[in-house]
Amino acid sequence: MKIEELHSYFLNTSGVITDTRKIEDNCLFFALKGENFNGNKFAEEALKKGAAYAIIDQEEYHTSNKTILVSNTLEALQQLASYHRKYLNIPIIALTGSNGKTTTKELINAVLSKKFSTKATKGNLNNHIGVPITLLSMDNKVEMGVVEMGANHLKEIEQLCNIATPDYGYITNFGKAHLEGFGGVEGVIKGKSELYNHLINNHKTVFFNADDAIQKEKLENYQKKYGFSAISASDVKVNLTSADPFVEVLYKNKAIKSQLIGAYNYTNIAAAITIGCYFKVPTEAIKEAIEAYLPSNNRSQIIKTRKYKIILDAYNANPTSMKAALENFSALKDDHKTVILGDMFELGPSAKEEHQIIADIATGYNFERVFLIGSHFYEANTQGLKFKDFDAFKKSFQTDLPTKGTILIKGSRGMALERILDVLN
Ligand code: ATP
Ligand code: MG
Repeated sequence: MKIEELHSYFLNTSGVITDTRKIEDNCLFFALKGENFNGNKFAEEALKKGAAYAIIDQEEYHTSNKTILVSNTLEALQQLASYHRKYLNIPIIALTGSNGKTTTKELINAVLSKKFSTKATKGNLNNHIGVPITLLSMDNKVEMGVVEMGANHLKEIEQLCNIATPDYGYITNFGKAHLEGFGGVEGVIKGKSELYNHLINNHKTVFFNADDAIQKEKLENYQKKYGFSAISASDVKVNLTSADPFVEVLYKNKAIKSQLIGAYNYTNIAAAITIGCYFKVPTEAIKEAIEAYLPSNNRSQIIKTRKYKIILDAYNANPTSMKAALENFSALKDDHKTVILGDMFELGPSAKEEHQIIADIATGYNFERVFLIGSHFYEANTQGLKFKDFDAFKKSFQTDLPTKGTILIKGSRGMALERILDVLN
């Protein structure tokens, strides 16, 4: 089937679904394959549940006039998204970086939606499947799209850019995340820079952090750029005024009081202000949008219980965000601080060294207690209390809970450290 034809089918459906548990009436089901599943097997079920058509790529499942056989379902999804993106003809802002993509995406979307009808990536759907799904979630009522792009190896962002053809873009930072797939920090810089390269090659506008030395250098000879800075002359000036615990910034003489914790959120907020300013969103509306934004999903949330103030940052972790979180935690004026850290995944050969560094940083501050959990931290040479796995930690921690104080909880998603919340009340 030609992609134009598939697109006209798509326009008559309620949207794309890839999970049979989420089938909606009149949707277009794409039978994707994963390591442990084959969507083709669910095509019939999807149709029974109300899908208008099922896109499949194995002939044996081509059983009705509602199954559409293509050579590769994933490629068909990406081609459809790419075709739809051209059909939409709207400005798209793409975001990548090692940390803070989702937060920045949400903030930008909150700011821009004060003036435009926008659509942004839902949650964290930022990969080779999520980006196409995001584009296909936009209809012709949308005036501007905000697309998060994630990557754990080279050429991934380039591929996502070829599908989404962004008109604008911003890289949150170059940090130590997914070192395994990128082959070290240089690889991360190269990989994330694929977004700026794509924009530059297509003469599009680049948003940037003028205080980030790597970004500054990369964009030195490029004219179509619009940046923010706290210290130097720049298009937009935003200053961090407080992070105790909520981040406050000063922009055009207005104090903007966010509900985000962690000084690292300064750049995320500044980027959203900058993009709002570029698209002429009124200053008061920018302030309102940022002040109203509440993070979710265990991403830097503050939970107050009877005895404790808990900073739950258990959504993910890597050396850069761990270091930032510890630095920030140490700067809080609270007494009786406890740190609970879980292993950082996907660090490849650097894992041992990076866990040792974080263990040293954590124990170097004056925290009352430092708990380190997981097989990587367990190998570290440290004064902190270390545990092989979560269960061993929980068992010990329960018997000797802090009586009060502030607790920072941070680890990779797979560690699911939020499980400790049920003993903290
Ligand atoms: P993912 O790779 O899972 O999509 P992400 O890049 O979307 O992550 P967020 O979900 O916004 O990032 O934030 C995750 C965590 O990263 C935060 O809870 C915080 O610890 C850390 N973080 C956020 N912004 C920054 C930043 N600008 N610099 C360093 N660390 C940050
Ligand atoms: Mg994300």
